[in-house]
Amino acid sequence: MPSVQTASQFKLLDMYRDLIALPSISSTEPSWDQSNEKVIRLLADWFSQLGFSVEVTELDGLPGKFNMVATRGEGDGGLLLAGHTDTVPYDEGRWTKDPFKLTEENGRLYGLGVIDMKGFFAFIVEALKDMDLSKLTKPIRILATADEETTMAGARAIASAMAIKPDYAVIGEPTGLVPVMMHKGHMSEGIRITGKSGHSSDPANGVNALEIMHQVMGRLLDLQRQLKENYGNQHFKVPQPTLNLGSLFGGDSPNRICACCELNFDMRPIPGVGPDELMGLLHHAIEPIKQQYPNALELFHLHEPIPPYGTDPNGELVLAAAEITGNPAEAVNYCTEAPFINLLGCQTIVLGPGHIAQAHQPDEYLDLSFVKPTIDIIQRLVGRFCLAQ
Ligand SMILES: [Zn+2]
Repeated sequence: MPSVQTASQFKLLDMYRDLIALPSISSTEPSWDQSNEKVIRLLADWFSQLGFSVEVTELDGLPGKFNMVATRGEGDGGLLLAGHTDTVPYDEGRWTKDPFKLTEENGRLYGLGVIDMKGFFAFIVEALKDMDLSKLTKPIRILATADEETTMAGARAIASAMAIKPDYAVIGEPTGLVPVMMHKGHMSEGIRITGKSGHSSDPANGVNALEIMHQVMGRLLDLQRQLKENYGNQHFKVPQPTLNLGSLFGGDSPNRICACCELNFDMRPIPGVGPDELMGLLHHAIEPIKQQYPNALELFHLHEPIPPYGTDPNGELVLAAAEITGNPAEAVNYCTEAPFINLLGCQTIVLGPGHIAQAHQPDEYLDLSFVKPTIDIIQRLVGRFCLAQ
């Protein structure tokens, strides 16, 4: 059980220990998937003690999955500090430490979620506990979400409810304390071709799904080229929206006409060329084949698209974060909840302690050199956006 703490007694390592000790794995594999309720209740307790009003909401159709919004101060605007409460599953046998027991060793804190990203909430409490929040000129809100690692259902629910309207949002994913101002989105798509089987001795006596798929793949490679020629954002190392053929399944025997074939591929939209635009281009690309083989092609999402995200590179938040951290804002190639938080109408950055390379790995760790700068950055952001006169 987490130790009971009062506001004046909050200690970063104790809070960290309590968060890590409460498993909150989310997974599309039901045997791994867990409720995040205990983490949310713990956070609700901490932020209540700091004088926040706390709202905990169970997600529609997802029993055991909760979001929390904690607010201190009145009205709209102000700063939102956001993060997810779930973690990925862990590789059994590959951790050298207990993933649910905070271990301090060699200047590092080990545990599942130390950087990705339950630990960020401990930093928020640690940063706020010594600030005089009775003098807020703008509200400060804390958002803790469910299921970021799978469907982003928590962030999607916040975006569709539109119940909060911050001016600025900071998502504490592990960026090595470098502000992130844009990332690509992600789409996983499938195309299934249903033909008609027959004896291979007469290939015309059937409809060969592999032959149709061959045409589809040709069209997709044309689209891949068009995307590279016509679109790009130079902030990204790979500027264009990408399309990658990932896996192909089809047929069962050399002497049969192949009746069924399925291709899975991904696309990575960029700000300005989002999932809707890419789906439009995709439909356009395969339309002639659909005309030629009515009802043979089926296009479907393997999961709901994650939109790309970008915030104003010259906005107050990006500039303030660059000044406070000493690092210019950059674009990255992984996805976060930022596109959904951004829908609230706020300038949004991703900025948090730890390196992404250590996330989703056995022996996930936070280097303790991040502790002081992280607390300082949170305090200065709150000072700038919620306490300024
Ligand atoms: Zn994360």
